[in-house]
Amino acid sequence: MQDFFSEPSEDKEPFPPKKGVLCRVLLPLPIAEPYDYLIPLDIANDSPEGLCPGTVVEVPVGPRRLNGVVWPHSVGPTGSSGRDKKLRFVLSVRDTPPLPAELLRTIAWVADYTLSPLGSVLKMVLSVPDALSAGGGDKRVRLCAQGGIDQTLKMTPARQKVLDSLRAGMEGTGADLARAARVSPAVVRGLEKAGVIRTVLCAPAFGAPDLARVGPCLSPDQQRAAGAMIEALESGTFCPILLDGVTGAGKTEVYFEALHRCFEQGKQALVLLPEIALSAQWLVRFRGRFGVDPARWHSDLTPAQRRQTWRAVALGRVSLVIGARSALFLPFPHLGLIVVDEEHDASFKQDDGVAYHGRDMAVVRAYEAAIPVVLASATPALESMVNAQKGRYQHLVLPVRHGGAALPRVELVDLRRDRPPTQGRTAAFLSPTLRTAVKNCLDSGAQALLFLNRRGYAPLTLCRNCGHRFQCRDCTAWLVEHRQSEGQEGARLSCHHCGARYPRPSVCPSCAQANTLVACGPGVERIAEEAVALFPEARLGLMTSDHLPSPAATRAMVAQVESGAVNLLVGTQVLAKGYHFPALTLVGVVDADLGLLGGDPRAAERSFQLLHQVAGRAGRGGQAGRVLIQTHAPDHPVMQALAAGTRARFLAEESENRRRGGLPPYGRMVALILSSPDAQRLDDFCRQLAETAPQGAGYRTLGPAPAPIPLLRGRHRRRFLLQARRSVSVQKLVKQWLNGLKTPSSIRMMIDVDPYSFF
Ligand code: ADP
Ligand code: ZN
Repeated sequence: MQDFFSEPSEDKEPFPPKKGVLCRVLLPLPIAEPYDYLIPLDIANDSPEGLCPGTVVEVPVGPRRLNGVVWPHSVGPTGSSGRDKKLRFVLSVRDTPPLPAELLRTIAWVADYTLSPLGSVLKMVLSVPDALSAGGGDKRVRLCAQGGIDQTLKMTPARQKVLDSLRAGMEGTGADLARAARVSPAVVRGLEKAGVIRTVLCAPAFGAPDLARVGPCLSPDQQRAAGAMIEALESGTFCPILLDGVTGAGKTEVYFEALHRCFEQGKQALVLLPEIALSAQWLVRFRGRFGVDPARWHSDLTPAQRRQTWRAVALGRVSLVIGARSALFLPFPHLGLIVVDEEHDASFKQDDGVAYHGRDMAVVRAYEAAIPVVLASATPALESMVNAQKGRYQHLVLPVRHGGAALPRVELVDLRRDRPPTQGRTAAFLSPTLRTAVKNCLDSGAQALLFLNRRGYAPLTLCRNCGHRFQCRDCTAWLVEHRQSEGQEGARLSCHHCGARYPRPSVCPSCAQANTLVACGPGVERIAEEAVALFPEARLGLMTSDHLPSPAATRAMVAQVESGAVNLLVGTQVLAKGYHFPALTLVGVVDADLGLLGGDPRAAERSFQLLHQVAGRAGRGGQAGRVLIQTHAPDHPVMQALAAGTRARFLAEESENRRRGGLPPYGRMVALILSSPDAQRLDDFCRQLAETAPQGAGYRTLGPAPAPIPLLRGRHRRRFLLQARRSVSVQKLVKQWLNGLKTPSSIRMMIDVDPYSFF
């Protein structure tokens, strides 16, 4: 690292002013424009035009030093702030390659589109400040192996905590270790001095893919799709592709061929997956195909893994990253291909901070980088289908399952007639038809899956005596009873919005009667309870985010299903997607109507996608699959489409509904969500906002209205919704609306362009 002002005294403005080259530096703060700085002549002399755009530098900001990025004049806002103030000098250049120009343009695009401050988007890129220098990133603290610990060493509780973390597999620098063990860094240094631990340098663990390996022999359809992708790669241009193939068609195998070609070109690739839980089987397949593990990017990485991965990506030492949506903002210098698997999945949308859609911004980055982007799904989003129909995306179709496996037969179970047999006070949720089917399936040696997209035991608890219902203190939400999550003792009531937990009382807090509380409705744990009672021989596995809290737990469960140690799966949407369990032949959907409630304009589409994906788990091996869908609304278009297997017709009808309603993708929407602990002030401010809300030809603003969850984490919430024709620039309208507006400090405002959440 070149450090020009290492003495703090030199940080003061020199007088008379030293000469330097003017540059704009964008800081990772919620600001809309770069600031002006001077590059000291000794750096500037090395490059007459100044530092190259994208260079990561350290600059003074008030009393602090912050990392920032030299910002090109050609990208984003043309102005800059700070010219009227006394200019300060860039302090040093960080030891990392400049951010690629395509990433800078992507940052500007995302900021513009989502109406977020430019600096807030940069913050997502510079998310690992420690990775901006060599050294630290590759250091690891290790226990010294030789002969145990010296008996004369004073073993304090703090030291013990450090050793315990190391033994539990913690990896990282001394500082990481101190943070993980919640001790001061001095404790770690003390142990190092005493020779108990030492710091070692590790080589990055990302191997190069083995390109000599060949994939499976592709079917003609698969070959055609892979060929089109490879052609796109070779063209060296932006090329968005919708890979639309039924569940089990071999979409993964097909885009593996594209990855292979991308690696051959010496370029890097990025695969976005919606759930990290999904990646367990994916990783095994990737290793089988390419002989190495890809780098992973998600929220569960340790600080050391995060630093090492970010740096290795920036230095071009990683061929493939598989990650959650945030991986989109990694500084790949040679990005050659992006794949968005399960592209329809709503979890690609970020709802707080910079509210961006990972899929859409993947297309933007691919455009800026002039590379292909593959969106893969068995149930593409209506947005993507329309783009394909309009010719904006190349549409590659895989119409049949690999190896001739048939798509499962889908039958509707009408819960109004086929009633679950309730016994006394014990409620039941599985109909006689579904019960018989599960029994036959398990008797035949196959596996079955019961799906209910609702965590916990019961969505509502009430008092039989006085009718008291348990509600969250800080949210407008009933508390969900949980009985058997990993590592939890006894039943508790939990709020799924704020995460608050309360023990389940034995006495009603309202009428003080004992033993009067009853659970209402089913959660997935209650289905498991019913299944155990009905099929005592079954080897049951529960798959929910509560029961599989870590990737390791998920891997263990997947292995048990693969080996047959588990033959009856009960779970939520975490097991709807991606998994390939060949012996699974029966899928039972316990309540298909759940997703149709609420005010989400995409409710029908999402229900269809989710249920279709769950159904797609059945019959992926040699034996035919069967899907039973329990519903109170068998005539609903979603249920009819699922039963008849008429995806195209469903999408056409849904598309027509949206067109008529002016809803996305035919119209644009922006949600404004305002919240405050003070309802009065919030309403006053909303009234003021309403006066200037955009209303005009081709657009209108609805609201303010209380949000469907009017109280969340102790804050009252109101919503506005701007609806506009596609041709209208909603960004411009919102900017004009909010321009010059002062938001009171007690009020938080969240802007969500293309909202996917309507709570
Ligand atoms: P999708 O991603 O479309 O759901 P997958 O890629 O997971 O489908 O394929 C389903 C199963 O079929 C996987 O086990 C995969 O390895 C296998 N498969 C797909 N295509 C082929 C092929 N051409 N040769 C051998 N196996 C294949
Ligand atoms: Zn709550």
